[in-house]
Amino acid sequence: MSETVAAQLDTHKLAAARLWASDQFPYLASAIFAAQVHSAPEIGRMVMDRYWRLHADPSVVDEASVEQLGGEILHLTSHLLRDHASRADDAGLNGIEELHHWVDAADAEISDDYPALSRVSETITPSELGLDPHRLAEEYFRRGDVREGASNDCGSGAHGESASWEPPPPSHTSGSGLDEHERSLLRRRVASDVEAAGADASAGLRAWAAAEMSPTVDWRRELAAVLRKAVAIVSGAVDYSYARPSRRSAAVKDIVLASMRQPTVEIAVVIDTSASVSEELLGSAVTEIDGILKAAGSRSVRFIACDDAVRVTARISSVEGIQTFGGGGTDMAVGIAAALDSRPRPQVVVVLTDGFTPWPFDAPRADVIAGILGNDDGIEPPATPSWATRIVIEP
Ligand SMILES: [Zn+2]
Repeated sequence: MSETVAAQLDTHKLAAARLWASDQFPYLASAIFAAQVHSAPEIGRMVMDRYWRLHADPSVVDEASVEQLGGEILHLTSHLLRDHASRADDAGLNGIEELHHWVDAADAEISDDYPALSRVSETITPSELGLDPHRLAEEYFRRGDVREGASNDCGSGAHGESASWEPPPPSHTSGSGLDEHERSLLRRRVASDVEAAGADASAGLRAWAAAEMSPTVDWRRELAAVLRKAVAIVSGAVDYSYARPSRRSAAVKDIVLASMRQPTVEIAVVIDTSASVSEELLGSAVTEIDGILKAAGSRSVRFIACDDAVRVTARISSVEGIQTFGGGGTDMAVGIAAALDSRPRPQVVVVLTDGFTPWPFDAPRADVIAGILGNDDGIEPPATPSWATRIVIEP
């Protein structure tokens, strides 16, 4: 009688790996011991899902050393600490190639958290994506080189796409894993421990902790979420469609692929070119919008440069490298009117201004996003109309 017996998960070895990791990085102990271990035969690796559940293939655990397993747990924990799953949701991954590129980008972001750590899986460095270190995953994702044959998968904790074999999300009554509130508390607890550790922690981890403890919202993330939501609602593609899977889905097991329907949404960007606007901040906002729209499948945008009158209007495939003019007065109502008069008429209008401007009295017949550029004078920009979605863009 020859029957294949499923290998038992060596939980003692995993426990030793966690002890090893917390011995190396005591300020991460709360995170290292937060994960719940699940046996996942046949997945060929160790991954963590977005609810802090560690899924380990027993054969992978058998073959790796305690130090390698400890390194892998630390790596996966970093994805969870940095909330890469929610950030992947905001980035809007379209298909399996983008998912793997995002995992590379997220790996590049955490590559300097633990210098010289050995792992089970390969580690991607920023230079492999052609960029400098100490950047965020969003930037590596948008501007980094796409690696030929990239196939790293650190789990839904890194990219947000739940595998078919994952247990259901935790609920009030049942299930394992941490809910949103528990995850947020855990991140703050660990950030506080990292800050208390001071120079013992790596520069990368300290930068993460400082951001986690500061109450300011990252405007890039907010802008991406708002813009993508506007495009999705206007195009009717509020949900990801699972009806049209990516070409390569057959080659990938256990990942449900979301391919977003390509939206045909007209977008106009109205740019305040009056003298009081920070050119540097305007430049960052424009670059960010360009990246987000390209990622959302937008082919061209109408660009309107405006101070108290419209200076330039053009349909361009990239808003990068636009010129500003530094005029006198400011009236964004004129720019919005020009945007709405153009054909095809835009459904989404993004206005980038310092906020010291009149606005149309009535809500325009378009979704308006007001990107308010902060200033160095410490003067709070004026309120924006209630029909616009306001995002404050700060250095
Ligand atoms: Zn990873």
